[in-house]
Amino acid sequence: MYPLGMNSDCIFCKIVAGTLPCTRVYEDDDILAFMDIGPIIKGHTLVIPKVHVDPITSVPDELLATLIRIVRKIAGAQMKGLEADGINITQANGRVAGQVVPHLHFHVIPRFENDGHSWNWNAHPYDSPDEMEGIASRIRSGLPMEI
Ligand code: AMP
Ligand code: ZN
Repeated sequence: MYPLGMNSDCIFCKIVAGTLPCTRVYEDDDILAFMDIGPIIKGHTLVIPKVHVDPITSVPDELLATLIRIVRKIAGAQMKGLEADGINITQANGRVAGQVVPHLHFHVIPRFENDGHSWNWNAHPYDSPDEMEGIASRIRSGLPMEI
């Protein structure tokens, strides 16, 4: 376990503690994977750290590495066990990004030929190459000295 703790107001912490039910797919000392009650596609699974941490920028590297390794295993299990043709992996940070439950989680969503789902992914071009370069520069200025 990592020294981060739990949040008594958090529904995912309650699921970890067992005070709210879930349908478990995988569990170890640090990670829990369980079925999303509102699946985009049936089989949609959530993968969470057992400790309360949010957003993704505040999770320790080692725990994130453990978490993403399990995300990959769940994706593989959906391909094998459900015979999924593809997988979407998504993760939201903040209300404006569509996050509803503020406890770090990855959505692992099995996709099937003709499953009827399509993402509302509206692409917009930059006004100019200069605008794109300027925005890239601002992101670069936010990078830490050491990665
Ligand atoms: P997000 O919008 O990224 O915060 O996603 C939260 C997800 O948690 C949604 O897909 C919900 O369907 C799911 N969810 C909320 N409550 C529960 C619950 N008690 N058990 C399983 N999934 C849940
Ligand atoms: Zn929590």
